[in-house]
Amino acid sequence: MNQRIKVKDITPVKIQKPTNSPQKPDYSGRSRIYVRAVEGVIENFRRLFGFIFLGIFAVGPWLTYDGQQAILFNIGEQRFTIFALTLWPQDLTVLAYILIVSAFALFFITTFAGRVWCGFMCPQTTWTYIYIWFEHKIEGPRNKRMALDKRKLDADKFIKKSAKHGAWVLTALLTSLTFVGYFTPIHQLFIDFFTLDTTFWVAFWVLFFTGCTYANAGFMREIMCTHMCPYARFQSAMFDKDTFTVSYNPARGETRGPRSRKTTQEQLAEKGLGDCIDCNLCVQVCPTGIDIRNGLQYECINCGACIDACNGVMDKMGYEKGLIGFTSEHQLAGGTTKIFRPKLIGYALVLTVMCSLLVWEIASRVPLELDIIRDRNSLDRENMEGLIENVYTLKILNKSQEDAVYQISISGIESPKLYGDSEVSVAAGEVYTLPVTVGVEIDNLEVGTQKMYFHVDTVNTQGQTIKVEEPTTFIFTGVF
Ligand code: SF4
Ligand code: SF4
Repeated sequence: MNQRIKVKDITPVKIQKPTNSPQKPDYSGRSRIYVRAVEGVIENFRRLFGFIFLGIFAVGPWLTYDGQQAILFNIGEQRFTIFALTLWPQDLTVLAYILIVSAFALFFITTFAGRVWCGFMCPQTTWTYIYIWFEHKIEGPRNKRMALDKRKLDADKFIKKSAKHGAWVLTALLTSLTFVGYFTPIHQLFIDFFTLDTTFWVAFWVLFFTGCTYANAGFMREIMCTHMCPYARFQSAMFDKDTFTVSYNPARGETRGPRSRKTTQEQLAEKGLGDCIDCNLCVQVCPTGIDIRNGLQYECINCGACIDACNGVMDKMGYEKGLIGFTSEHQLAGGTTKIFRPKLIGYALVLTVMCSLLVWEIASRVPLELDIIRDRNSLDRENMEGLIENVYTLKILNKSQEDAVYQISISGIESPKLYGDSEVSVAAGEVYTLPVTVGVEIDNLEVGTQKMYFHVDTVNTQGQTIKVEEPTTFIFTGVF
């Protein structure tokens, strides 16, 4: 009982308030990261990936299909067109499947290869690298940029800064116009925007996204990844000891320290030096400004720039490459990476099932929808011909990309007579409201509710029959 419980001193630290004294605390923002350019296999791969991604993004809204914009997310008309497929608010299941497939693909890739999405495909990274490329081409390499920023404003600095910001704004404007072009017809958008003939909201969104791109890729950069992106926060929940991440091998690299290229392995062993020459290049090329030698950090976007930088150093020193590499925690500890593990297999299975369901949902989707609303004012009535009538309103939605003529018919009840149009023309994407009355001879009815079906069908321009069948009820109260 006389054992003392260890306590931790949690006396609150006094927070210093800013004063007017010369020794003011530092309330300045983050220090600016001057990213050093790097060459290497991974950098080449990312550039290739970036070009493909940018190419798809830039060309996407200009593609046409059947005389129309092939990819158009028309929010105003609540219609998403992707080539031959048009999705409506009624196609919520397809959208839900697309979201679920995307989520599980992200889980699978993150569990397998860490944050490769961030490093190679995320628009934030891609545009940041484009902006850094402009910076590098206009203001020069890292040390020149640092010197330029320290210098007082002169003609040369003014010209360079203006050229850089001009290139950034132009890139942002083109990005924004392309992005908005996914939501409004792009040909008209470009004509209207450059002839100053656009609507207020289109102009607003173009300028808004221009501002966002310019601010994010030009100034916010790693702040987006480290403080605002939710993915950076929850990714660790998906990592395990077999996930491939960019890691430094401390067993090989430590103790780090400078040395001459001529230093032999024996001399290194004598001094207790590892392979890291402490050149800091891996930190200088890092777009988030971290030191990977401090271990796995949530700021790391797995871009691999530090791998290229360090491999270059290892090459020059005549050491084996791979001091920093894509590796797993198990591999770093001397074991082997387990590729086929329950978590990964689970994600792969769910992904396969969801992909199959998505394909099945799209393949079996009928580009026609029918809603039937019964007249609630009268259950039934007798008409001049002595038939018992029920009244309905049909809502026919043409979900295809072409106008169609639909035939309406009835089944499930003996000798029904349809009062109203049995053939209607519905434009692509339109909802047609058709009031109809169905009459049936009393002898063919039993008192109560009987099941009946409405059929709507057409043959499209490719010769395919498109049809839907919807059940409803015919009510006979027996009072006539
Ligand atoms: S530590 Fe390496 S992989 Fe991670 S963000 Fe920095 S450069 Fe990219
Ligand atoms: S680039 Fe390689 S050698 Fe240079 S400091 Fe980084 S880990 Fe060490």
